Formats: sequence, C-alpha cells, structure tokens
Amino acid sequence: MTNVDLSAINRCIRCGTCRSVCPVFQEVGWESAGARGRILTAKGIIEGRKIDSSALQSLSTCTTCGVCSEICPAGIDPVGAVEEARGFMSNQGFALPAHSLLKEKVRATGNTFGDLGSRQGWLHSSLSQFKQQPRQGPSTWRKVDYVYFVGCLESYRYPETSAKTFNLLNRFGVGLLEDERCCGSPLIRTGFDATELIDHNLKQINVSGAHSVIASCAGCYATLKKYYSADFEVLSISEFLAGKIPDIGLNALDMTVTYHDPCHLGRCNKIYDPPRKVIKAICDLEEMKARRGRSRCCGGGGGVRAGHKDLSMDLARRRLGDVPEGVDCIVTSCPLCVRNLRDAGGKAVDLIDLVDVALKSILDLKPSNKGERALLRHL
Ligand code: SF4
Ligand code: SF4
Repeated sequence: MTNVDLSAINRCIRCGTCRSVCPVFQEVGWESAGARGRILTAKGIIEGRKIDSSALQSLSTCTTCGVCSEICPAGIDPVGAVEEARGFMSNQGFALPAHSLLKEKVRATGNTFGDLGSRQGWLHSSLSQFKQQPRQGPSTWRKVDYVYFVGCLESYRYPETSAKTFNLLNRFGVGLLEDERCCGSPLIRTGFDATELIDHNLKQINVSGAHSVIASCAGCYATLKKYYSADFEVLSISEFLAGKIPDIGLNALDMTVTYHDPCHLGRCNKIYDPPRKVIKAICDLEEMKARRGRSRCCGGGGGVRAGHKDLSMDLARRRLGDVPEGVDCIVTSCPLCVRNLRDAGGKAVDLIDLVDVALKSILDLKPSNKGERALLRHL
C-alpha cells in the first residue's frame, strides 16, 4: 500500500519532549500542530485512515525546521516522517491548493514564481550597476571548477544579491550553469516528485565540469547535498567565503549585527561557524537568544510560507523577539529567511549584502558609520 517506513514512526514513545521546542506548536497550541501530533497523523493515514482536512492541516504546517529531531530522546526524525507522509498524501491526490499551484509553476517554468522571464536577467542588469564586471556571461560559457547555484529566490526576487554574489565569486573563477532550474526543494518539501529538475540540473553541473557547487540559499544547499549525486562537492556561500577571507579584502565596519541560523543550513547541515567567521571579519556579532542547534525557525520553510502565510508571519515575528536590542541588523545566509523576516518587520540582510558593504571597493564611497548602517537598513 505504501513505501513509507513505519518503523521510524513506531519508535515514537509519545513523551512530548518535542512540544517544548516546536515553534508551530508554541504558536498554534494544538497537539496536531506539534511533532508528536504530526507523527500520529502520519501513522494514521499510512495505516489507512481517511485523509481529511485536519490531517492535511497537521502535516502541512510543519516548517521542517528539525529542532524536534535535535532533542527527541528516541532518536527519531519527525521531519522525515512528515515529508514521507506528505508524499503519501500527494500520491493520493491530497495537497494544499497553494502547494499544487507551486508544483505546477515549477514544472511549467523551472522556477517557483512561474516567471517566464530569463533566470539570468540579474546578470545582464548587473553589468551597469557594479564596478566589477562579471568575467563570465552567457556568451562565454566555459569549463569551470566551481559553479554558483543561484536559486529561484535570488534569481527572480533578489537580483541585486545575485549580482553581488557573482561579482565576488567570479573573482575566484566561479562560473554559472548555462541553464539552471529550481533545485527541487519546494517540491520535495511539499510532497511532490522533483526527479526531472534534479536530472536536468545534474546534467548542467556535469557539462560545466565543476567539482564544487556553491549555494547561497539554505534550501538549495540542503537539497543539492541530500538529493543530488555525490560526484561533486556542495559548499554554502559562507563556507567558500570563510576560506577566502584574506583574499577578499574586507574592510572593518563599526557596527554590531546578529546572526539568524537558517534551519536547513545550521541545524540540518551543521554549518554554524563559517557565516560567523565571515561576520566577525567585518564587524561585531551579538548572538540571538536561540541560536545554532536551538535556533528558532523564521517560519518560511517546508511550504509553510506558501501554504499558511499568516502562520508563517506569526513564526517570523516570534523569531524577531530573539533579536538582541540595539543591533544594526539581522544577518542570515538564506534568501527565504531574509524575505520572511523582512516581511514580518525585521531588518534582515543576506550575508553577501554585509560582505558587499565591507568590500574595499565600497570604501571608495568613504561611508561614515551612520552611512554604513543606513546602507544596510535600506537593502
Ligand atoms: S520527542 Fe520524539 S519520541 Fe517524544 S513525542 Fe516527540 S517525536 Fe515522539
Ligand atoms: S520540524 Fe519543526 S515545525 Fe516540524 S514538527 Fe519538528 S519542530 Fe515542529
């Protein structure tokens, strides 16, 4: 009847420890909105109970943040159970309308926005915006050792960030894929198949000749790492930059920032130190109340922003409550976290935005401390 592995689900001893950390349970308060409740829901539908709207609600409100897996005394992975159950439901024709629409858009256009424009529109507009011109463009595809996987959000919603990232990476000979498409994360997380996208991108990576793929989105990074073949190395932008600090030419900025750990970069892949190393090479860092393995989710992941916008904003506002007083801005290393935290009223910037301000070339502008802060506030 199903390929879902029930053994993980059956290992849940129903202790409820996960309720103390699940951000959605803390927001909603219903048992069905916490890991224990979701596991019971998953078990029920997989064992043949009728799928109804409450089951869909229970399983679709998980942000897949993974903090429950971090503390579960039985060592089970509720995220895995939720994702398998979502796949089981979608195979039976049950999905949130918003998630079905997302799937249609991605399959029709190769991006989550259903945008018919060029995925590399940012590359062309960057030519006139930045002092350092990209050394590689669509007319000069060549074999490279490293490629920058841009992602849907940065390609279509944060073109300036993509351009800054590529301008910097291109100094080190990093190239682009000729025809990148969505990494598949939004489909996988919401229970749909992403094989076609993965196969397409794998071919592109092979053609590029790259031995390493650099991702600036936590969702892309986690997906490339877990669902793509192991023939190439996957690096987060923070890992790459942390290894190049002496060569980048960063200028110290007189400001204090805090850092938000994206769930799929931090907790799920243990990338905690590289972004902090880059930040500390630039300015002071004051940590959030909940950080690293216990960092609180921004509320954007797991299809929650797409399917439950109000809940997503409530989660983001709760996360903003962890920001230390007096910091100039929140730095993170994921465009979805930037987007969700900004939409909830936070002054969130991408790590690359901070790096860009600190680049020696920006010093030509001779910004005052006040100017540096203003620059980051208006990003
Ligand atoms: S902490 Fe683990 S074992 Fe306990 S209820 Fe949650 S998922 Fe089940
Ligand atoms: S992954 Fe996060 S949102 Fe989902 S059940 Fe676990 S703690 Fe809750």
